[in-house]
Amino acid sequence: MPAKTPKNLSPETISAQALHHSDSGTGALTPAIHPSSTYVRDENYELVDGRHSYGRDENPGYAIAEKVLAELEGAPAALLFSSGMAAAMAVVQSLQPGDRIVAPRVMYWGLRNWLIEFCNNWGLGLDLFDSADPDALKRTVEKTSTKLVWIETPCNPSWDVIDIAAASDIAHGAGAYLAVDSTVATPVLTQPIKHGADIVMHSATKFLNGHCDIVAGALATAKEDEFWERVCHVRAHGGAILGSLEAWLLQRGMRTLFLRVRKACESALTIAEHFEGHSNLDAVIYPGLQSHPGHEIAKRQMDGGFSGMLTIQVKGGEEEALNVVKRCKVFTRATSLGGVESLIEHRYSIEGKNSPVPRDWIRLSVGIESVEDLIADLEQALEG
Ligand code: PLP
Repeated sequence: MPAKTPKNLSPETISAQALHHSDSGTGALTPAIHPSSTYVRDENYELVDGRHSYGRDENPGYAIAEKVLAELEGAPAALLFSSGMAAAMAVVQSLQPGDRIVAPRVMYWGLRNWLIEFCNNWGLGLDLFDSADPDALKRTVEKTSTKLVWIETPCNPSWDVIDIAAASDIAHGAGAYLAVDSTVATPVLTQPIKHGADIVMHSATKFLNGHCDIVAGALATAKEDEFWERVCHVRAHGGAILGSLEAWLLQRGMRTLFLRVRKACESALTIAEHFEGHSNLDAVIYPGLQSHPGHEIAKRQMDGGFSGMLTIQVKGGEEEALNVVKRCKVFTRATSLGGVESLIEHRYSIEGKNSPVPRDWIRLSVGIESVEDLIADLEQALEG
């Protein structure tokens, strides 16, 4: 278990030291992995630590990543899941039949498509709003009663920035919860709870872990209320639990979170500024650029950077966009984001025919390599 940590430590220290962890039994600095699916009871049939009983309810190996994430998010509690999708689904499955969700039209496509299907099949209402229109959320929430406002900011892959404090006022004014997918911002740049969010969700597959070697998800809560209890119940009984090795890898990845995210932000801004106005591009879409419609909100809401994610719009349509992707040698052609290696993808090809993403957009996930190498690679790919 993490040792007692002095108060008022900076988030970088909390993250790097994993709450000053060392094993009180052995002195091991590095935490153990707990693959056990069950836990013994003593002669009086009491659980040895009074808590752990069965591997689907809890794993002692979750404690570090959950506590570190809760600290970084300013949350009283956090939960790990087997994927970001499982974390999001636990929130939705904690609603009641007939409840209505409001979510952005442009967001992580897998979740949007699942929401459309699930809400339709399971008697939940769903309305999608245009995240690029600052008044659309209010209009959509006011249409009829709403139980959950789901937002993602910056939104994938237009990087529209949604004002969390404004969304919180709208959601709470309507008696709804506000959940924020903060995968792209990470707690390094934004703590949604400070801006009024009730639940924060991460695909921990991405920046939190940072090495493209696990699939994981996490939720953090502003309050340990009855809704959160339902979310905990969904995890314990639904079984969307993270493997013990994955939980261990996640706590290790989170130790370098601040270094990785800051480097990715710095390089993404350098790349965005370098390529803005390039003769073979129609646009560079990045919240750190003044030309981005969400720049002012991003400056208020994102502290220390604008994320490692950007999109470029290539002149010459889909064919040329695919050619640019093909010619890259340093960027790796793969989906996903937030790893130490930079990835490039033609988003429309991944999302398929109902995708709202324009066909001439290329999404870049900037890693921690030399930014000069990344720029040179894109230069040669754009020149053809
Ligand atoms: N949210 C965002 C912003 C994502 O990019 C992703 C995955 O790409 C998810 C949620 C889903 O997470 P996972 O793939 O870990 O289930």
